[in-house]
Amino acid sequence: MRLLLCLLLLVQTTNKTELRQRIADLKVKAFEMQMQIELLERELKDVEEAEAQQPPPVAAPAKAAVKARCAGHTKDGQRCSRNAEAGSRYCWQHKPRR
Ligand SMILES: [Zn+2]
Repeated sequence: MRLLLCLLLLVQTTNKTELRQRIADLKVKAFEMQMQIELLERELKDVEEAEAQQPPPVAAPAKAAVKARCAGHTKDGQRCSRNAEAGSRYCWQHKPRR
């Protein structure tokens, strides 16, 4: 009976050491994850700052194209005063036909 108690105590001690080891391991992992999170957050901030400094170059010309005037001319040689259709250089009337 005494041997069993000793054995039980030994098992408990091993468990305790094991648990401490596991906790220590998890703490290391948690620390590494925290570092990774901070690194990624810094990276994200850099990307966001870069985006804020230079807006995507596609946006400006696309907006300009929508508002652009028709490149066609009227019968009397005047520049067409209509707005060009979206994605085209001409209005509905001067749109090249195929
Ligand atoms: Zn036109």
